[in-house]
Amino acid sequence: MRIPEAEDLIARIRAYNPAVDAAQITKAYAYAREKHGDQLRASGEPYYGHPVNVALILIGLKLDPASIITALLHDTVEDTDATLEELTEKFGEEVAQLVDGVTKLGQLELISERTQQGENLQKFVLAITKDVRVLLVKLADRLHNMRTLNFISKKEKRERIARETADIYAPLARRIGIQKICADLEDLSFRHLNPPAWVSITRRLKTQRESTSAQVAQVSQTISERVMAAGIEARVFGREKRPFSIWRKLEKQAITFDELADVYAFRVIVDRPEDCYRVLGLIHSSWRCVPERFRDFISVPKPNHYQSLHTTVISKDNVRLELQIRTEEMDRIADEGVAAHWRYKQGGYAYDSAVGGDPLELLKPLLDILEFGGDPDDFLEHAKLEMFQDQVFAFTPKGRLISLPAGATALDFAYAVHTAIGDECVGVTINGRARPLRTALNNGDSVEIIRGGVQEPPHGWEGMVITGRARSAIRRHIREVERQEFEKLGFAFVERLLIRENLKGKVALKSAIKRLGLKNTVELYIQVGRGVLRTDKLMDALFPGRKDEGTDTMPQNELISDKTAHFYVRGKGLDPHMAVHLGRCCTPLPGDRILGVFEPGIGVNVHTIDCERLEKHEDDEDNLIDLIWTPQAGKTSASIGRILATVVHQPGALAEIADVVGRSMGNIMDVRSLTRTPGFFEMYFDVEVVDAKHLSHIVTAMRACNSIVEAKRARAGNVTEDLSNEHQ
Ligand code: MN
Repeated sequence: MRIPEAEDLIARIRAYNPAVDAAQITKAYAYAREKHGDQLRASGEPYYGHPVNVALILIGLKLDPASIITALLHDTVEDTDATLEELTEKFGEEVAQLVDGVTKLGQLELISERTQQGENLQKFVLAITKDVRVLLVKLADRLHNMRTLNFISKKEKRERIARETADIYAPLARRIGIQKICADLEDLSFRHLNPPAWVSITRRLKTQRESTSAQVAQVSQTISERVMAAGIEARVFGREKRPFSIWRKLEKQAITFDELADVYAFRVIVDRPEDCYRVLGLIHSSWRCVPERFRDFISVPKPNHYQSLHTTVISKDNVRLELQIRTEEMDRIADEGVAAHWRYKQGGYAYDSAVGGDPLELLKPLLDILEFGGDPDDFLEHAKLEMFQDQVFAFTPKGRLISLPAGATALDFAYAVHTAIGDECVGVTINGRARPLRTALNNGDSVEIIRGGVQEPPHGWEGMVITGRARSAIRRHIREVERQEFEKLGFAFVERLLIRENLKGKVALKSAIKRLGLKNTVELYIQVGRGVLRTDKLMDALFPGRKDEGTDTMPQNELISDKTAHFYVRGKGLDPHMAVHLGRCCTPLPGDRILGVFEPGIGVNVHTIDCERLEKHEDDEDNLIDLIWTPQAGKTSASIGRILATVVHQPGALAEIADVVGRSMGNIMDVRSLTRTPGFFEMYFDVEVVDAKHLSHIVTAMRACNSIVEAKRARAGNVTEDLSNEHQ
């Protein structure tokens, strides 16, 4: 087939746009021809024939010169050494931008294999379409490629392209109202995707056309006469049925071809909108109307501006007659949609917004329809919808399309791909460059997530995402990490307890778990780690018959036995036979200044000199004993100091504290949470220390932790509070 010359194009453009700048068209034509050089199409014809044919399709839609020049140049940046800079220089900013838009849409072809995402891809196309002409050029490009699809030798490739056309481009064409292109795209893809069905329907349509053409002509004649008799100018003709629309109806409506064939379809074109209603009246008074089939798209146009009256009547031979009644203008819009709004006006050829409004505005309702996945007719039922511009579309390295709300970050993207990928995410590259995880994505970004194995989500991740999915996944992850920490902490504590009590681990624990009514050791560790299960309760479970040595509810394990205590303190007036207890209120440590209080029947209680419990013995000097620590006291690590800390509720907090205490040579023996306010825990840490200095050293180290707001040695006042919480 001969490739049309630049002059052929210009002549056709001139027919509707006398002001066309022929030199520009010629220049673009020559440029495309030169750039594509001796490249060939699969058909064997020179490549430049393709852009020329795409331009012809757009000329058929009477588009403006910039669109036609864009069509001529649309493959130069992608397939030749041409650059956008060069196009800008030679053809101006407008054309360069349009070509750039078409090139970007080419990304779609990368992802065509997984077209479960047809709707998403349609959204993507619309989202990156800043100018509706980009879409028009792309559709014309696709139409020409579909017309020459039979030259592609690989069946898989043909089917892939046809599938993509059916899923993405044909629906888009329908949605911007270009019925002409849409029907062609649908039929062409149908032909390649389902050849046997296409052949059989095409054959039957031909037979049917032959057998009914006489009747159709006769009915057309009748309608014409009645309309003319009423003084109305009209064109009446029988409508061609398209193979794919038949196929779709057969699929959807569970009817047979013959039932479909019994419907004759007509179109009546009149001059003025009011004539449409007059014709409708005439038709309805001549034949019986099928009420549920009547639609008035003139007073309520479709979102793509489609206007027409639809009605179905029953002829006296019991044949259904389907009629579309509309004006010439409506008919053009029905065929060409948004493309119908370009026209010659005041010496220039441009989009006439007086006719169609902003063409991109026209797209918006379509985005809503996509959102709902519904039929354009359903649009009015969903008037209040989120705008599609609120979304951003990005790709995985394998080309999967991920749609996110606008403003979504790389971290949102990671969680959208897969929760595990989000959890393991340590970095990201966007379009090949390393970027922060909080980077907001742009349409068309290619995002690669770098994974670094399971880790705890760093503090502040929640603030880096905007999607609910990512946020809840991060929270879940934080909870899980926290749970693991409690488990580790509980495990370490229980292990130490078992060693100290000289118990063989598994058997002893097993029976204790049973007694406590817990599920398993993990649950035990978590409960101990969280401080829900107190040490004394655990001891009770480990030693069911154990006698309760304490007189109050204070736990036992943290106290040093009488014998040992005796070994630690000495003082004038301290009888070696007297029982000595270290006060549970202030937990005196070697290094603390201490006083003993003799209490008849109990023995000597040792307090730090600032212990509040000493107040009631102030006037009881006879019973106060000055005590000092023995040198041995500081040489063992048998003392327990208690620390009260306010801990930030964040993942890693407990691990950090355990680490700091461990590095300070202390052992955490018990942990208990007192109160939990949003964001903070008040916790006790009972720590094995050498002496008071050691404890104060640990407290200081804890204060340096990120996750500690406040840390201090626990005092009697706190202990009282502690006791009040003991039985919760
Ligand atoms: Mn192309």
